[in-house]
Amino acid sequence: MMHGIMFHHFHDGDRHIKCQGSLDAQELEEVLDYYQNRYKLISAREFYEKVLRNKLDADEACVTFDDTLKCQYDIAYPVLRSRGLTAFWFVNTLPLNGGISALEVYHHFRFKMFDNVDTFYETFFQCLQEMQAELQIDYGKAIENFDYDSYKKNATFYTYNDKKFRYVRDIVLGEESYDRVMDAMMEKMGYHAQQFINDLWFSVDDIRQLCSEEHIIGLHSHTHPTRLTALSYSEQLDEFRQNKDILASYGVSADTASYPCNDYNSDTLSVMDKLNIQIGFSANMQTMGRGALEMPRENHAYIVKQMKQLKS
Ligand SMILES: [Zn+2]
Repeated sequence: MMHGIMFHHFHDGDRHIKCQGSLDAQELEEVLDYYQNRYKLISAREFYEKVLRNKLDADEACVTFDDTLKCQYDIAYPVLRSRGLTAFWFVNTLPLNGGISALEVYHHFRFKMFDNVDTFYETFFQCLQEMQAELQIDYGKAIENFDYDSYKKNATFYTYNDKKFRYVRDIVLGEESYDRVMDAMMEKMGYHAQQFINDLWFSVDDIRQLCSEEHIIGLHSHTHPTRLTALSYSEQLDEFRQNKDILASYGVSADTASYPCNDYNSDTLSVMDKLNIQIGFSANMQTMGRGALEMPRENHAYIVKQMKQLKS
């Protein structure tokens, strides 16, 4: 079962705030120890070369990071360095050009400004009610059709508010109106994303540092669409070509990738071929055996859960 481990957020109780599922340096050490006892963690370069030569052993695994996050660079990179380990870093390039990825900003806003997720939901629903007229929706009426049991039936771990929020965001509002509510909320609470750019995403210098130590930088699209499959082949090609060209302008030649939100299709795989991508990673273990463009990955949250079960 050769695969990658997929990490997202890390916290240090200071510059990088704790959020759902985030790990601190010590917890990362524990995950890597746990893994090293069960699998063979190998460097990114070795993993890359073995995939290409079809020589990867079943118990070999590698470390991967998505989303260009500064917390990964500040917290996880030193841990890897002390262990002499290198990783794949899948980079969405918009934030490197001073752009903002709304998904990441909303995530940061939620955990920075609210003690718990229910307070966030309450404030969100309140704000939405106040904006009904300008958004041209009847909130009371729209929410009448929400039924906890039938909406996202399989997601049994969601609370009532988790589901209600997702229903309102995805079904009632849609992306544009959702963004307007979030922007109004951030404005009202004095949260300005520009202030946090350097805390959220790493820089071109950070990328150069990683490359100088044999880490591998790969593609993760330019703007990080949450629904890549809603884009046409040529739109997907634009996303990844821009991604690749920007990295090339920094002297990084990328021929590996991972897919934003794991939402990809046959067009995405054709785009990978077109851009000469050698290895692509999915975000789950179900793609095992589907070849080099769908290398499986285990989510770190699942590994942490396994570790807890063993302890108890
Ligand atoms: Zn991502």
